[in-house]
Amino acid sequence: MNIPLLDLNRQYSTIKKEIDDAILSVVQNQQFIMGPVVTGFEQQVGDYLGLEHVFGCASGSDALLLALMAMDIKPGDAVITSPFTFFATGGAIARLGAIPVFLDIERDSYNLDPDQVSLFMEGNHALNSKLSVSPEQVRAIMPVHLYGQSAHMEPLRVLSQNYGLSLIEDAAQAIGARYNNQQVGGLGDFGCFSFFPSKNLGAFGDAGLITVKDPELAEKVRILRLHGAKPKYYHHLVGINSRLDAIQAAVLSVKLNHLDNWSNQRIKLAHRYNDLFHDIGITHSEKNQSCSCGLAEDCSFPEDRILLPEETTGNIEYGGRHIYHQYTISTQKRDELKDFLTQRGIGTNIYYPVPLHVQTCFGEFGYEPEDCPNAMCASRQALSLPIFPELTFEEQNYVVSSIKDFFNNV
Ligand SMILES: *Cc1c(COP(=O)(O)O)cnc(C)c1O
Repeated sequence: MNIPLLDLNRQYSTIKKEIDDAILSVVQNQQFIMGPVVTGFEQQVGDYLGLEHVFGCASGSDALLLALMAMDIKPGDAVITSPFTFFATGGAIARLGAIPVFLDIERDSYNLDPDQVSLFMEGNHALNSKLSVSPEQVRAIMPVHLYGQSAHMEPLRVLSQNYGLSLIEDAAQAIGARYNNQQVGGLGDFGCFSFFPSKNLGAFGDAGLITVKDPELAEKVRILRLHGAKPKYYHHLVGINSRLDAIQAAVLSVKLNHLDNWSNQRIKLAHRYNDLFHDIGITHSEKNQSCSCGLAEDCSFPEDRILLPEETTGNIEYGGRHIYHQYTISTQKRDELKDFLTQRGIGTNIYYPVPLHVQTCFGEFGYEPEDCPNAMCASRQALSLPIFPELTFEEQNYVVSSIKDFFNNV
């Protein structure tokens, strides 16, 4: 068997006619950038999310950058975020000359730990002095809803309110996820989405979207993505070129109608993985295991066990919804397991092998691995398994039995 981590061809084949027609109509119309198809898509996403100010842009990375630009983030400012994320989250902060403050994640959810943020804002975190960043320099908190599950937004909202910070959600992996019965992207001051082809709602190229709560900031974001022009050729702000093109919007409009079905299918598959792994008895349960070593080798749970993804905020009992952009397990034997599954024809991936606080390009800030021990552990243990709406039960059984075979020989 050959089971890819993600198979976009299968999705396309189920909606080929709809998609082809939508693209053809843009081609016939010849309006490629912005225009009515883009406006129509913005309206449709706004309705889906229950939000008023919604703007298409060129990518999820740009959505993050636009949010920070709207807040006039500049050199000397600091922005708190998670080190366990795609590079764009930290990159957007550094690109504006601000200091990315990487604080550790929760072990169970892989998301930014609000207690760490609280410590830092009280000035009592070891990183305050190490980075020479005072709480007054912090302008924003940028949580990431990793793997499709919301970060713990309520304590982060309270912190941002108490300290006058803006709250910017990196919802690139989480469209359709819910926290406390609310859609992510509308929980903070800004919501940033990516439609990179491999995301749950994927375009046929780069595309992104930003949502804004405050009407004045919304107007600012609207023009910042058009080089700050209002009207055209009259510039009050120095913006960027970050427009959404109509072919992408046409594809996304078609796909958005299917998104909830696809998300439900992912959830069903994720729960089925959980059941299958429990059945074969290789799971280890451990709630929010604390780790202060910074080395996965020392994070002791048995070598022949795996940790399953946990529904924390995503638990339906708390009004949550984890939309399983990734189904990610943890194991001490991660690299060996990955190689073994590759030989069996099973695609897996590591999100992410190097946490941002130890990336070479951020060396100037002076972080050390043990500053974010949970992120270090996760980077050494996490492995994402195939999950996409069209994955079959038979394929899933094969993934699980292969993992069983691997651990039988550990
Ligand atoms: C994909 C992603 C981004 C960037 O989105 P692009 O559209 O690829 O620019 C940002 N943050 C996270 C967490 C992502 O997964």
